[in-house]
Amino acid sequence: MYLFKNVSGLRAFLEPFRTKNRAIGFVPTMGALHEGHLSLIRESLAATHCTVCSIFVNPTQFNQQADLEQYPRTPAKDLQMLYEVGCQAVFMPTVEAIYPPGLDTSVAVDFGQLAEGMEGRFRPGHFQGVAQVVKRLLDIVQPSHLYMGQKDYQQCFLVRHMAQALALPVEVVMSPTVREANGLAMSSRNARLNPEQRKQAAIIYKTLQDAGAWIKQGLPPAEVQEKALQQLTIPGFRPEYFEIINGQTLQQLNEAQPDRMVVACTAVWAGEVRLIDNLILQTGS
Ligand code: AMP
Repeated sequence: MYLFKNVSGLRAFLEPFRTKNRAIGFVPTMGALHEGHLSLIRESLAATHCTVCSIFVNPTQFNQQADLEQYPRTPAKDLQMLYEVGCQAVFMPTVEAIYPPGLDTSVAVDFGQLAEGMEGRFRPGHFQGVAQVVKRLLDIVQPSHLYMGQKDYQQCFLVRHMAQALALPVEVVMSPTVREANGLAMSSRNARLNPEQRKQAAIIYKTLQDAGAWIKQGLPPAEVQEKALQQLTIPGFRPEYFEIINGQTLQQLNEAQPDRMVVACTAVWAGEVRLIDNLILQTGS
């Protein structure tokens, strides 16, 4: 496994793959790796000739300084995990390598309504930061395949939108969410939960599943949302949103849409830790 800290080294390593038209898979992460990240790496390894994983805690996507400072960082363990899974190259750039002073790395993509709900509503500026770092990383790595998790459904959807809008020559692959035994979606932030919170957080996946059952029973989306928010309001937990959306437009449903893709998305505060999760309730026809 090769570790690169600067752009030129990584580009030189990738050049032979590019000239031979070999598939390059890219998995951007913020580190503190877990099985969810590794599933993306494995998917890339199975489908491409070279897999690059980046570890970069991107300051521009954090809307709260404290969240950025408290974000877990475990670089030595991350490298060990990537080595063991068989990842070929790791890119661990400095902030200056990603955002060189004087270089305009802003991205002019209008996400419109796609970024208005859910994470976009509660984390102002977050998706501009995500778009900025992903575009910059794509410019550097120039992968043929980009692997992202369904766990961050809106993020993956917006990156796909950006790739289309800018006609980027990359296929965006959405990988299923990997969960703990109790259903809690794996997340780097889970490391900040105490054992009790970790146990209780199973309510999030349970509520997403219940929402699926309620929709199936014919309950209107607004009522499902209401019941879900109630169920998630347990001592020490505070749901921020629970939305039933059309999976293609990311707009909230007003009524049942049996032939459409329907996704339930939620963000819940467990003490000081913000957890997000979602479940595809209907795949549509
Ligand atoms: P992060 O390090 O949290 O920025 O995540 C890096 C990538 O891993 C993103 O594409 C996430 O959607 C994906 N990811 C995070 N958690 C999971 C999970 N539990 N299952 C699958 N993918 C995940």
